[in-house]
Amino acid sequence: MEVKVNEDCSACGICEDICPEVFELGDEFAEVKVNPVPAEHEEKVREAAEECPTESIEVSE
Ligand code: SF4
Repeated sequence: MEVKVNEDCSACGICEDICPEVFELGDEFAEVKVNPVPAEHEEKVREAAEECPTESIEVSE
């Protein structure tokens, strides 16, 4: 799984709360720390993508 955060991100921090192993809040946007996503974190990344209020998390398999 590959994941990226697009520029619609509002830096709310929800993704980092859900999966701090993969997401880290930067100054303006959340940043992805590891790509591709390790298998053990894929479920939480999907959850973060669903919970993101601006639908900024783009997941590709
Ligand atoms: S949950 Fe969405 S809007 Fe919030 S910091 Fe993460 S990518 Fe950005």
